[in-house]
Amino acid sequence: MMDIHLDRLLNFPNVTVQSCIHEDEGIRLDLGFIKEGSHCPKCKHFSDDLHRNRPSLIRDLSIFGKQTYLRIYRRQYYCSTCQSYFTEQLSFVDWHRRYTQRYEAYIYESVQRSTIEQVCREEGLTWDQVHGIFKRQYKLKKPKLGVQLPA
Ligand SMILES: [Zn+2]
Repeated sequence: MMDIHLDRLLNFPNVTVQSCIHEDEGIRLDLGFIKEGSHCPKCKHFSDDLHRNRPSLIRDLSIFGKQTYLRIYRRQYYCSTCQSYFTEQLSFVDWHRRYTQRYEAYIYESVQRSTIEQVCREEGLTWDQVHGIFKRQYKLKKPKLGVQLPA
């Protein structure tokens, strides 16, 4: 079942919300893909020869104050031109990250407004997680003068 309203709220390309599981700890949106296949990062040829498909859980911005996770399959395809395997890149999650780009940006901004400890409490993250996200965003964004990197 596709939910056009949830898809619009989510606002990511080529994915659709298949189900929304509401638990005490938070909300989990199970995502499916609209289109099969992906372009090989090496030769740019299109492949829909699916080799492996494994689920991953990605933290996203909270919905109505509830911690929110996206369950999405990381798809590995076989490229017959290169004769090698490649994993599809998602436009909204950086490589090997467990958080969406917008969630990492939110954490970065939240730390600047308050403290790492406060953000840990609000988001239910560990100090190392928040600090790791902050450090990474700091390097990516080349921040304006005056933004201090917390120790
Ligand atoms: Zn290729």
